[in-house]
Amino acid sequence: MASQVYFWNLRASMKAPYAERIKKLLGRTGFAKHVTSGELAAVKIHFGERGVTGHVQPLMVRPILDELVRAGARPFLTDASTLYVGQRGEAVSHAMQAALHGYDPLLMGAPVIIADGLKGASQVALPVPGGKHFQKAFIAADIAEADLLISINHLKGHELAGFGGALKNIGMGAASKQGKMQQHVTTGPKVDIAACKGCGACVGICAAQALALADAAVSAGNPNPEKPRQTIRLDQSRCVGCGACFLACKHGGLTIDWQTDVQGFMERMMEYAAAVLLSRPKPSLHITFVTSVTPDCDCMGFSDAPICPDIGVLASLDPVAIDQAGIDLVNMAEPLWPSHLPKGLKTGQDKFLALRPSMPPAMGLEYAEALGLGSREYELVAL
Ligand code: SF4
Ligand code: SF4
Repeated sequence: MASQVYFWNLRASMKAPYAERIKKLLGRTGFAKHVTSGELAAVKIHFGERGVTGHVQPLMVRPILDELVRAGARPFLTDASTLYVGQRGEAVSHAMQAALHGYDPLLMGAPVIIADGLKGASQVALPVPGGKHFQKAFIAADIAEADLLISINHLKGHELAGFGGALKNIGMGAASKQGKMQQHVTTGPKVDIAACKGCGACVGICAAQALALADAAVSAGNPNPEKPRQTIRLDQSRCVGCGACFLACKHGGLTIDWQTDVQGFMERMMEYAAAVLLSRPKPSLHITFVTSVTPDCDCMGFSDAPICPDIGVLASLDPVAIDQAGIDLVNMAEPLWPSHLPKGLKTGQDKFLALRPSMPPAMGLEYAEALGLGSREYELVAL
């Protein structure tokens, strides 16, 4: 059955400025009727890594929080720690990064609470209904324990998932560090000993101590066992698939084997989304900003030129439908250059697929649908 996705195309007027449009958009979803007075509402958002400018801006979020308060909820803004070293790897830096991007409790009328505790270990194990990879998922405790969940998403491309929207904001974004590791674990590096120069630059980068230099004479693939040299060796059992080493290697010694595990990664992420969303007694609300549609994630530390014009804001109780609708709207929009899009791409062609041909957006959505997270069939209801 088709799910309803409500859409505002960004047109506004003196009589109906942004806040009025958002109020109307949220009103159409009927979410307010699920709110009981005093309930704690986790508003899951990506505050943007330092250097990013395309993330959802606080000014856009405040009216959403106001609507939640009007409905009787007590909202808090939240996200969980990242696996990689950056501004959001633990709660103190993460909360400061949120503040730096304008997510100040006094301005927002809601506090920022990093959901998985000081060092990313505060978690709850939730069952994964129908999961083939996991029986339990490790979810940031404050998101799991909140009475209500509202997901504010920025639609954009993504280096590992092809695109990031509602399902990724929950599946990866609500996972604790351990949960994120579980999803990434088999996307560890592919080691090319012949390409490795033995420089050792990657060894210190690996916090999991999965990389070490070894005498190539005892390493498989040594081109000349008579002349031993130092090359990298990966201890797969220690690797958490965080990807930090890929950037460290300038010689092609460590690469990602996208072809073999993209499908598995997508499925694991969707199972995490299922653990979060299907365990909740009440529906969750998903709000997607199809604006500043950058080729890469807001984790990257920069915002590249958008791949299409700003399109609008979507709201739905169905995370699969809202992701499908967002992708369709992006594909129907005219491509923009200069951007990272391949030259010559036509309106109507799949922009996220063109950016990352090994990661078709449908891959994750089909599995999400099979898990019962929602429907790829939708009715787009314009305000
Ligand atoms: S992906 Fe690389 S840096 Fe991360 S744990 Fe594995 S070997 Fe270490
Ligand atoms: S894999 Fe790359 S970074 Fe690591 S030792 Fe070899 S050449 Fe250096």
